[in-house]
Amino acid sequence: MKDRSEPKFYPLVNADAKGKYKYAMIPTNNEKQISADGEPYLAEVVSHVFRVRGDVGNSIILCPYCGSNTKNIAPGRKPLLVCPKCK
Ligand SMILES: [Zn+2]
Repeated sequence: MKDRSEPKFYPLVNADAKGKYKYAMIPTNNEKQISADGEPYLAEVVSHVFRVRGDVGNSIILCPYCGSNTKNIAPGRKPLLVCPKCK
């Protein structure tokens, strides 16, 4: 049974050697598992809206759906990312 309201979590990996860009890997519903390795990840709190968990510095996060640069719509301590192309 899949609960559609359940958040999805995307592990982030560097898209380039310096880690300026990060892209999302295949999502999981298991936040415990994904947070256990200490790497930053995305939490899809609402469809196509992503919270960053962990420290990504000034990296640009690429949209898990289309690979475009996401945009931070909540500048501050906890970024909230949306994709201008998917929205
Ligand atoms: Zn997108």
